Amino acid sequence: MAAKDLDQIVNLCKRRGFVYPSAEIYGGFRSSYDYGPLGSVMLRNVKDAWLRTMVQMRDDVVLIDAAILGPPQMYEASGHLANFSDPLIDCTVCKRRFREDHLETRDCPQSMKGCEFTAPRAFNLMFKTHAGPIEGSGADVYMRPETAQGMFVNFMNVLQTSRKKPPFGIAQVGKSFRNEITPGNFIFRTREFEQMELEFFVPPEEGPKWYKYWCEERLNWYINLGIPAEMLRMRPHESDELSHYSAGTSDVEFLFPWGWGELEGIAQRTNFDLTQHAQFSGQKLDYFDQTTNERYVPFVVEPAAGANRTMAAFLLAAYDEDIVNDEPRTVLRLHPRLAPYKVAILPLSKKDTLTPLAKEIFATLSAHYMVDYDETQAIGRRYRRQDEIGTPYCVTVDFDSLEDGAVTIRERDTTEQTRVPIADLLPELQRRLKF
Ligand code: ATP
Repeated sequence: MAAKDLDQIVNLCKRRGFVYPSAEIYGGFRSSYDYGPLGSVMLRNVKDAWLRTMVQMRDDVVLIDAAILGPPQMYEASGHLANFSDPLIDCTVCKRRFREDHLETRDCPQSMKGCEFTAPRAFNLMFKTHAGPIEGSGADVYMRPETAQGMFVNFMNVLQTSRKKPPFGIAQVGKSFRNEITPGNFIFRTREFEQMELEFFVPPEEGPKWYKYWCEERLNWYINLGIPAEMLRMRPHESDELSHYSAGTSDVEFLFPWGWGELEGIAQRTNFDLTQHAQFSGQKLDYFDQTTNERYVPFVVEPAAGANRTMAAFLLAAYDEDIVNDEPRTVLRLHPRLAPYKVAILPLSKKDTLTPLAKEIFATLSAHYMVDYDETQAIGRRYRRQDEIGTPYCVTVDFDSLEDGAVTIRERDTTEQTRVPIADLLPELQRRLKF
């Protein structure tokens, strides 16, 4: 059973330290969020899971980390200055603003019937700031609205230094910024967010083949990390939805409590970006294939995912309520790779006699995994807390442990308990956590 209501996750996130409203003591800051002790680790796990699949386990993808601030010329070439806008409309009655393409009818959702919308205006989503002490058009810089342009402008650098040749990819994970007209739905749409993007450069005729390949790969990534297949779908864009650079895009969508929403777009960007940057910069951005003696501008297939949205989807899908020992419990059935803590060490009592052994076990395990250590409150309540934050295994140290040198492993999903010798604990957990 997944969460039916977004509030179930929003409340859990606040209560347990996953996600807080940003600058909360000042009343919160415009749909921005801060990731707490558990959320920051989980967000990192989402990004690490992506990097593992998309970079580490492939010999045809390399990683870069490009600058967030960029010059206007770069965004003129990419088309973002002219085209990266949403249609903004105002309701003249309630004064609220909407994205025209998000409204299902011509009635304002807030006002009474009869209200009137202004004509749509193109609102550019890029954040502009200035570099250096003097403001003025010469000092304008933009915060990146996607990480993608960093890969295109470094195409030659990477090609020359990495010894890769098409088909190959450049990946990047990092913050992007969009001045969204209607942020909302918790961390689904914010003005500052993290993207996980791959630009995969291929010989032009191989574009369709790789597009199909990446659509399948990316859908499977979510399924392999525990999202039920029936909560996911692949939706091809209609021709009037396509971005200015795209010859075909499909979105991986997740069934959020409010309906289907995009987690990731897989786009055929053709040779648009490399051609534009070559033209605007005056630099050659192509590839000479020595085996065929042909020079060409590679086509690009781009799987572009959002880390925060994806984290929200993993939380919603993992949320469950069941009955254990006649009591209701909330449990996050997160894939172990995504769970903030893999193991929690729980000494049965706070007494000095158990602490040294429990701390010793913590020291051994924490060299391998993120491990929580919790010695306060009744053991049942501590199990519930770990269930609620998705910790796959609890290790209980009790008074018998001092005598028999063994501890109890408790499994989150089944609540099954097994006694294991301390000497076998790490290999046993490694066997169970083989993810
Ligand atoms: P949307 O239609 O929801 O505005 P998009 O199609 O503009 O999204 P892309 O440009 O394809 O999004 O960006 C790739 C991914 O980045 C999205 O699938 C999403 O996961 C993430 N993303 C984009 N905008 C935001 C945002 N404002 N907040 C959080 N994540 C975002």
